[in-house]
Amino acid sequence: MFRSLHMKLVMILVLLITSLMTVMGAFLMTSVTNFYIDRFYEQMRNTFADVSFVNALQTEAAQEDGAQRLQALMELYAGTLGIDSRSRNYYILDAGSGTFLTGSDEAGGAALEQTANILAARNGSVGYESDIAANYMDVAVPITGGDNHFIVYIRDNREAVSELNGELLLIIMQAMLVGLLVSVLLSFLLAKTMIDPIEKLTEGAERIAGGDFDDVLEVDSTDEIGILTTTFNDMASVLHDTLDAVENERSKLDALFLHMTDGVVAYDGSGALIHCNPAAVALLDRAPEDCVYAELFEPICPFAHVVSMRRGDYAEAELAVGERSVELYFAAFADEESGGVLIVIHDVTEQRKTETRRREFVANVSHELRTPLTNVRSYAETIRDANGDIPRETENSFLDIVISETDRMTHIVQDLLTLSRLDSGRTEMVMARFPFGDAIDAVIRSIALEAQRHGHELTHDYPEHLPRIMGDRGRIEQVMLNVLSNAVKYTPDGGHIHVTAGDAGDTVWMEVADDGIGIPEKDRARIFERFYRVDKARSRESGGTGLGLSIATELVQRHGGTLRLVDRPGPGTTVRLELPVMQAEGQGGFV
Ligand code: ADP
Repeated sequence: MFRSLHMKLVMILVLLITSLMTVMGAFLMTSVTNFYIDRFYEQMRNTFADVSFVNALQTEAAQEDGAQRLQALMELYAGTLGIDSRSRNYYILDAGSGTFLTGSDEAGGAALEQTANILAARNGSVGYESDIAANYMDVAVPITGGDNHFIVYIRDNREAVSELNGELLLIIMQAMLVGLLVSVLLSFLLAKTMIDPIEKLTEGAERIAGGDFDDVLEVDSTDEIGILTTTFNDMASVLHDTLDAVENERSKLDALFLHMTDGVVAYDGSGALIHCNPAAVALLDRAPEDCVYAELFEPICPFAHVVSMRRGDYAEAELAVGERSVELYFAAFADEESGGVLIVIHDVTEQRKTETRRREFVANVSHELRTPLTNVRSYAETIRDANGDIPRETENSFLDIVISETDRMTHIVQDLLTLSRLDSGRTEMVMARFPFGDAIDAVIRSIALEAQRHGHELTHDYPEHLPRIMGDRGRIEQVMLNVLSNAVKYTPDGGHIHVTAGDAGDTVWMEVADDGIGIPEKDRARIFERFYRVDKARSRESGGTGLGLSIATELVQRHGGTLRLVDRPGPGTTVRLELPVMQAEGQGGFV
């Protein structure tokens, strides 16, 4: 229960009540005392100002037993003077010596000290002086009757006022106690109406600080605390929405950084790495902790230079990472302290490869066309320069060469057109189901004569019923023919060519194995590239353009199949064609 606010409230109320009561008590008690003193002297003055009373006193004093007579008279006036023989008494004193003769208090009279007022009366004047510091009040009046000199001395020991003050103190203490009790009750009441809602607010704030936005605080009143609670709920809801939005943005950014193909690396103003996404790790081929700016980028683009760049400016550079080429974009970003550097890493390996391939391709095309063109030109010139002075036979053979070179060029141009159509997706495929075995039979039949011309032994071994497959039969046969004619071309005369085929459920395959010149290890991966030939002279001699296998590969890929070399020991080459029985969605048709 003594939570700090409660405690403070109780303390304040206790202090308030105690100080109030103390001030009030002191004021009351002083007022009562003063009133009592004032009343005493006023009463005395009034009584002794009464001439008949004083005359009576003097008359009595003049008698022989003056003291007793005075006593009798004083008894008569006891009521007027407030003599109660307890707190207030009268004493008849001898004016000469100041000794006690008689009075209402025999015991007190005997022990009476000579007060300032008694001394004054002994000197003949009325002693009315009041002494605040003394614990009594007194009045001494000299009375002379004949030769008798007496002092009528009235003394009040202030017992009545002390008792009254004691009573008052008791009342004040009781009031204080009640006040304290009331203050405790009041503090509970206040706690209920004010501190509890504040504590609820505090708990709510603590929950929100801990990230819990689920509970809404109850609004029990329409006062300032109620308004504060409503405002607090509104603030929590806005905060929640804002945090949600920030969190959404953050997770979007995280997802973006995580899944983007470009690498992103960020360094703070001191050059320490603050962010590195997985793409950057892959492209730079090093763990995030090894992506040190000084090591990786300082020689390419100094850190100080990037940091000093203006917003919107960026620097570009290229970096080779192993076999990969990456383009780097450096930009400065502002953070709350000293800013930092952001680097976007873009993989341009394929782009560079494509550029190189395109350059090579143009060079190859020019080269391939230049050779036959040069031949055509030189034979045509020879015939022209001979001016008919050339044997008919020689002239014919020269013209044959011109025709064959022109054919060759036509062949190259046709192949290039085919490739260009395949590249641009303008090649129309006529898809239909046909027996795979029938296509192989047809191709073997069409190449048989050529194989025979070279003295090759062409054998085959495959099941009679191979599955029907979906594809463009003409294109598939073109691929098969290319592979078989390569076997015929690149096998020295009198070689062996063996065709096998089969199916594996959802795929069919065909292998063409020869025991010819084979393909050196270093060239095996490249023979499917455009214009790539192991032995250019030999290929050209046999009418090859170096485009056959690349066209075949494109066609097979369009059917969802593969064309590859089989690693097989021994001389010669084995090429394997694999095709799916059914076409996957999106394949076939216009491709
Ligand atoms: P080409 O018109 O030159 O035959 P291809 O694209 O069909 O072009 O073949 C590319 C190269 O692959 C050929 O030049 C040749 O060097 C090599 N090659 C293809 N098939 C064989 C094979 N069966 N034996 C040896 N070399 C081959």
